Amino acid sequence: MKCTVCGSESCEILKSKGKISKELLLKCNECGNVFREIVEVGKPVEVRVVVSEYESSHKTSVKLFPDEFLEFEGVLDLDGRPAEITSIENKKGGRVMVAPVSEIDTIWANYIDTPARVGISVDYGGRILSRKVEVDREFEFTIGDVVKLGNVLFKIRAMNTQDRKMRKGFAKAFVIKRVYGRPGDDLKRYDYDLTSKIFEVNNVVDSNEEK
Ligand SMILES: [Zn+2]
Repeated sequence: MKCTVCGSESCEILKSKGKISKELLLKCNECGNVFREIVEVGKPVEVRVVVSEYESSHKTSVKLFPDEFLEFEGVLDLDGRPAEITSIENKKGGRVMVAPVSEIDTIWANYIDTPARVGISVDYGGRILSRKVEVDREFEFTIGDVVKLGNVLFKIRAMNTQDRKMRKGFAKAFVIKRVYGRPGDDLKRYDYDLTSKIFEVNNVVDSNEEK
């Protein structure tokens, strides 16, 4: 893409039309000249995708244009469902943050139209009440929140996210693996009720040894 007046290659795309043959309306960043250009982007190619949903994953594919760039945490449309890219492997077998489709071997992705599943452990001095809840991915848990879960009230004292243990602050549900809470007789009011979000009812388990 070269400006037809000054020859600069720094242009802004104002409009883009068509798929295999794209008609672009461009504006030169140097002199402001507006011009049209037709670019051949080639036929879409099929790229392998391994997509996960909770603990299971399956293989599928997605059709993309070879000169399209994909990046880590970008969102793909997989048969009508949005999925976030969690890893890109190029044809040399390396993991990269960004690559043009023509160099990509496999994409790993996670569906993001499903709620987040978060484990909850409430510690009764060694006896652990363990539950899983399904909440909106963007739901925020904050250390210190008082939560109702069935007939239990507990206060959040720690959280494990995908990469760290937190003892203060807040995090969104989709990065949280587990929330740790303590019950308390002094707890009367709660910030939110997750009772209806429980999706798997475990029994009370004694997972801790006597302390
Ligand atoms: Zn120009």
